[in-house]
Amino acid sequence: MAKWGDIGKLFKEEEDMINETDIEAMAWKSDFEWFQEECLKTAIYPKQQGLAYTALGLASESGEYAGKIKKGIRDGTFDDKAAAAELGDCLWYIATAAHELGYDLDEIAHGVVKKLRDRAERNVIQGSGDSR
Ligand SMILES: [Mg+2]
Repeated sequence: MAKWGDIGKLFKEEEDMINETDIEAMAWKSDFEWFQEECLKTAIYPKQQGLAYTALGLASESGEYAGKIKKGIRDGTFDDKAAAAELGDCLWYIATAAHELGYDLDEIAHGVVKKLRDRAERNVIQGSGDSR
């Protein structure tokens, strides 16, 4: 596997096509690949219902995260470690849901960054609508 420095050298000749941000993105791509592979090692659920199972799991875990925030408001104390653990559970479901959709997690991560960069460049980062 190429290291960050190697990737930089690899694409120096094609600077017109690939900028430094893209190279940084490629560096964290491998983290997403690793993470998704690790999650899939523990993905034990009925595979014939994998799409629904992971969607429901993500909704459930995001609710657990919201619950930690809610309890912080109610009780006046906040357990950031417990909230962070719930975000981790969300990530597990995001990784497995992506797999069930037939996507690599890095494709999804790159897609959202590309979308947001494009919106920022067109000055439509604020507002609403999926197709801005
Ligand atoms: Mg949880």
